Amino acid sequence: MHRAEIVVDLAAIRHNVGLLKELAAPARLMTVVKADGYGHGMVEVAQVAREAGADWLGVATLDEALSLRASGDHGPLLCWLTAPGEDYAAGVAADVDLTAATEAELDEIAAAGDSVGTVPRVHVKVDTGLRRGGAPRADWHDLFACASDLHRERRLRVVGLWSHLVAADNPDHPANHAQQAAFEDALSLAASAGLEPEVRHIANSAATLVSPSFRYDLVRCGIATYGLDPAPGVTPARLTGSDGLRPAMTVRASLSLSKPVATGEGVSYGHTWIADHDTTVGLVPAGYAEGIPRAAGNTASVWVDGEVRPIRGRVCMDQFMVDLEGDLPPSGTEVVLFGPGDRGEPTAQDWAVALDTINYEIVTRVGGRLARHHV
Ligand code: PLP
Repeated sequence: MHRAEIVVDLAAIRHNVGLLKELAAPARLMTVVKADGYGHGMVEVAQVAREAGADWLGVATLDEALSLRASGDHGPLLCWLTAPGEDYAAGVAADVDLTAATEAELDEIAAAGDSVGTVPRVHVKVDTGLRRGGAPRADWHDLFACASDLHRERRLRVVGLWSHLVAADNPDHPANHAQQAAFEDALSLAASAGLEPEVRHIANSAATLVSPSFRYDLVRCGIATYGLDPAPGVTPARLTGSDGLRPAMTVRASLSLSKPVATGEGVSYGHTWIADHDTTVGLVPAGYAEGIPRAAGNTASVWVDGEVRPIRGRVCMDQFMVDLEGDLPPSGTEVVLFGPGDRGEPTAQDWAVALDTINYEIVTRVGGRLARHHV
């Protein structure tokens, strides 16, 4: 084993994509692979997702989309986060579906199409309540009229109309109903402007898992692809367990040292943990430069040779210490920081709870000098 590494189970991803595709049908499935596939490896995940039937891939940035194209991916691919001055022509030339939320963006994309000599594929984005990207309601009428004109002139093709949810992981949240009503309004208004998008989409993983009415023609699944619950208890019981969604990421390391610590002795920078009994600590060679959150110090636990052991003291840049409760395992002993949980190791969700964050952040931020293997 490497000093410290991320192991990504591509069979789990293949299985999860298959489950999500089946669940979403007849809606089509977009596998969201932005942010390096939520830390799992964008190119590898994309390849497996396509093989398992993903109809679309989704990324945030144009750079991500172009990297996927450079890796040999040629299927439908949506990119939704463009910035002023973006090289739309590169996206159009690479046959990437682009997002537009303003008339200026529609014009820029159409002009990029003119320069490349192709008809760009566009998904028009409306803001139904998140107040992040997307056109606010007051702009819908003019935006749709502009999109419709450009579509008719064959200067672009409106492939999609879409939005993003505020609180799909909480089915009782009033925003869900309000957003769906707003999305329906947008669809009617778009139809009166003569737009007939091939795919209407608003669902992320949580909405896909719990609310069939949000699936429309296409669902955009990120976190569930990686086998993680969008929030505790969101994944229906039939999709948990061994036949259900399977977490794909394991982060593990080789214990580099273990040694005694006597009562009253402090551990790591600032001595934020002081032994209240004679014990032993083990040194794990991964730190915040590897994306192990500093906040894991004195909060999260890891698995060492069959036992769950708490992290003691501050996580350093390259390493951290765990309490071995008197054991002195040899250097090289396997340490699992988090994984699927089948061996009793903590999961990304356990780390999220310990660190008062979400599993998305745990898996997305690990990396740095960690080796990453796909199995
Ligand atoms: N759609 C958009 C626009 C997103 O930004 C994201 C991720 O944040 C997703 C879909 C996927 O969300 P999730 O990982 O919750 O499935």
